[in-house]
Amino acid sequence: MKRCPSCEGTRHCRLSDGRLKCRACGHRFTWTSVWDSVHLPTATKHRLLDLFVLGVPSYRQRFGSTTSAASRERFYRLLRACCAQVEHLREPFEGAIECDRKGKRGWGAAGKVIVFGLVKRNGRVKAMPIPAHDRISIMREIDAHTREGALYCTDEWQAYATLKLRGEHVMIRKEKGRPVGRDHINGIEGFWSYAKNRLYPYRGVPRQYFHLYLAEVCYRHNHRGENLKPLIFSLLKQTSIQELRPTLVRKG
Ligand SMILES: [Zn+2]
Repeated sequence: MKRCPSCEGTRHCRLSDGRLKCRACGHRFTWTSVWDSVHLPTATKHRLLDLFVLGVPSYRQRFGSTTSAASRERFYRLLRACCAQVEHLREPFEGAIECDRKGKRGWGAAGKVIVFGLVKRNGRVKAMPIPAHDRISIMREIDAHTREGALYCTDEWQAYATLKLRGEHVMIRKEKGRPVGRDHINGIEGFWSYAKNRLYPYRGVPRQYFHLYLAEVCYRHNHRGENLKPLIFSLLKQTSIQELRPTLVRKG
């Protein structure tokens, strides 16, 4: 969607210099799709996308590839940022939601990144790195990504104590890290092992891009059972490189 960066308007006309002019506020802006912003031959981009869909990391393409490691990495970074943007904009969860966090032992090469995850009854996930293992960091994500009145299933960590003010709160007792009794929290456990398996082949994920890799994993999980090639291709065509820039590097 070509939105005016000033007023979000979607109606515009094209100026002779190629820029767009918003019909609502008159703002002139440049709109280049992420796909077009990458200056590689079209066939090469399709091949990189095919390999991405198959889950082949950039370093495994180093032999027999016509592209440099740097341009492959850049293309994949943009692609992951597109995933991050749609996953971030995915509407807040409601109903029964499992909440959990992971990372006291670190996530691979990313070191001590702490990840907070939410899983809906239908299996959709949201997961994001959090700056600290505390109540404030977790409640910030819960406020942003769930609707009030939801049914929260968590473990017994006391940081969740205020959840009952936001909705219903069910605490699941765990023994040796495994939930006891009902099958709650199993959804999120399933996602953690999915994410671990997905992130493992990437080996060293640079810390400043960890959020993009995590978003890729969420995107794949939320679209499992679908053909990713046409989905990601249209994502790359419909997202502008200008609006994507803030997503690329995590602030803070
Ligand atoms: Zn406008």
